Amino acid sequence: MELTVEKVFLASIFHDIGKFYQRAEINSLKKIITETYRYSIESSKSYSPRHQEWGAYFYKNSGLPYKNEIEGVILNHHSPINLLSELVQLADHVSANEREDYISSENERVKNMVSTLSLVSLKYNKKNKKYKRVSRLSEFKELIDREEENIKLSYKNLWNEFEEQVKNIVREHKNTEKLDITDPFYEKIYYLLKEYTSNVPSAFFYSEPEISLFSHLSTTAAIAISIFKQYEDGFKNGDINIFKGIKSDKKIMGIVKGDVSGIQNFIYNVSQEHAVKKLRGRSFYVSYLLEIIARYIIYSEKLSISNVIYNGGGHFYLLGPAILIDKLSYYQKKIEENLFKAHGIELTVNLSGEKISLNELSGELFKNISEKVEDKKFRKFESILKKNHEEIFNLKDVSQNLCPYCHRELIGEKCEFCESFAELGDFLTKKNSFKILKTNKKVEKINSYNDIFNLFGYEIKFGDNLKDSYLTVKDKKIDFGRYIYIIKSANYVPKKDDGSIADLETIANNSNGIKKWGVLRGDVDNLGKVFGKGLGDKPPISKKATLSQEIEIFFGKFLEDIVRERFPNSSVIYSGGDDFFILGPWSDLPNLAWEIQKSLRSFSGENKDITVSMAMEFAPAKKYPVYRVALGAGNNLDIAKNYKRNGYEKNAFFNFNKVVGWEEFEEYTLIKEKLESFINKNITRKVLYVLRHFSGENRKIWRLFYYFSRLADRNKEIGKEILGFLDLILRNDNKLYKHIDSITYWVEYETREG
Ligand SMILES: [Zn+2]
Repeated sequence: MELTVEKVFLASIFHDIGKFYQRAEINSLKKIITETYRYSIESSKSYSPRHQEWGAYFYKNSGLPYKNEIEGVILNHHSPINLLSELVQLADHVSANEREDYISSENERVKNMVSTLSLVSLKYNKKNKKYKRVSRLSEFKELIDREEENIKLSYKNLWNEFEEQVKNIVREHKNTEKLDITDPFYEKIYYLLKEYTSNVPSAFFYSEPEISLFSHLSTTAAIAISIFKQYEDGFKNGDINIFKGIKSDKKIMGIVKGDVSGIQNFIYNVSQEHAVKKLRGRSFYVSYLLEIIARYIIYSEKLSISNVIYNGGGHFYLLGPAILIDKLSYYQKKIEENLFKAHGIELTVNLSGEKISLNELSGELFKNISEKVEDKKFRKFESILKKNHEEIFNLKDVSQNLCPYCHRELIGEKCEFCESFAELGDFLTKKNSFKILKTNKKVEKINSYNDIFNLFGYEIKFGDNLKDSYLTVKDKKIDFGRYIYIIKSANYVPKKDDGSIADLETIANNSNGIKKWGVLRGDVDNLGKVFGKGLGDKPPISKKATLSQEIEIFFGKFLEDIVRERFPNSSVIYSGGDDFFILGPWSDLPNLAWEIQKSLRSFSGENKDITVSMAMEFAPAKKYPVYRVALGAGNNLDIAKNYKRNGYEKNAFFNFNKVVGWEEFEEYTLIKEKLESFINKNITRKVLYVLRHFSGENRKIWRLFYYFSRLADRNKEIGKEILGFLDLILRNDNKLYKHIDSITYWVEYETREG
């Protein structure tokens, strides 16, 4: 029987599924499995079924395609009997960096997975090991201090649910042996495993249980498929000498990075009218443009969804065969031509890639390729510039009535193209699902976001409960028979009383004190180092995958949960990868920032090496370009990242012209609340300006004493508190608390009317 990419995918992504099944300890099955695979068990001198037998038994009875072949591979992936099992064994070793112990002990204690974030180590050695509950990925909320006591039951419940879901998929998809790798069936398998095996450890006999089973399975699949594609003819012809040629230092794999440039310009450059809706739509468009371009490449190459090893935060990484690298200039040209038609020179996706060996899959791989992409940004639109020089520089007749945002010709008042993003924003909140469809539509003129997706052979269709779709509702347990998975990007927006999406004015009016909207931006500090030396020497690719998935769930889901549940007047415009952009009533933003910081700390087991910096900026007027405010917040974020104190840096928040370290924040808000309480008790606002004045260098502090004692005299009932406050903000060198001026602004705005 011929070897195909579908079989390679199934064999490799299920090869270790027995580790999950085995831990569910379904005793009634032990006997049956021992009977079924007696020969295999006895010939390995074991006494009871190992994960190979459990996995094989599961697959044989699952109703999934190619049952005999895949059952055989799972059973023999430690002692290969054919090309496919040998391929899976090789990919398995590379994924785990050959560190994993392969002798599954009968007595191994079932464990909870350790959070990889809690173990990242840069400067601080002391780590609090924290665990993840054996749970679905999307239901997982917080880390636990100790392992679960009834962990066996948790495994059993999770396994039963998983098997139920496999049945759902099998029920909905018939004739699966006829489906090719690009069919939604294969994506469902991938996401099903992601949902059910991300909080389950891969191995834990000798090593820490810090690599998730899903990371191990999905990277094994990506590696196996890449090798298969590189040697496709040999595999198909059954060449038994094929593995002799695959040396671990031979460059047989390819890694590709795709990176959007112009993302900020594009997302934030919107008109005031329905701005929130448009921002949401544009942000969704950018993340799904990357999603679609990644698909366009991997499915043109007949690779699998597992070959997209990362997608988020404005870039993706693909793992493929080395021959993919030779085709990159072709794909780059296609991308540039298509995006040029859509966005002119404002938005594009840069591809960069290199051939690598199996050895190089651990270590600093991502760093090198990132640098290459940076380099490329300066040579933007290289392939287009040669051809379309005139089109760019003679642009259009200036006498025409053009849209100021996309420079398209206006018909009447509105720009059809820009309006389509508002429509997209609307769909995201009104429809509970969308699907990505293949299409052959010819595109004459680009008038909407879907026209752009069409250029790559796809379109996005919104609707309610669409089959084979992604759900936009995040807190529902999904039925994998019907849906592929849950949407990755944020989609919560605040509403007006009439149910329509809030506009900038509504958001501004929801602030305390002065009515303004603002933005909050932030990202994880030292991310490059975290993925570099933070994971120890030469971390296997599966370990990096686990870490990036932990970060992805925080920014892709938890952050939006905080906003929806506790700051419902704000909207996450963008959150993915390791950074985010939130728009909201200005007075909510400092508190929201603090909550995000706290929640990331707790999510990383209070690991001091995992920190985040943020910055706030508010719009000087209700009608003010979002783009300018976004830029201001970006500059402020740079300042926050440069905040140095006592040997620390970063881990800080820019709020009202000042950067405050997160370790200082509680004191900072305490002082702010005290001061604010005085204003609310009607003492003169002048105190704010006086404090601001004295916060400068070399002021005569004795005058401040004088001022405060008079103030206390005039407000006898709170006189003691007023003097106590002065004590609080005067430091031992007779200098004022260093962030007092920032606090005076905060209090001033929060207590001002209108
Ligand atoms: Zn326009």
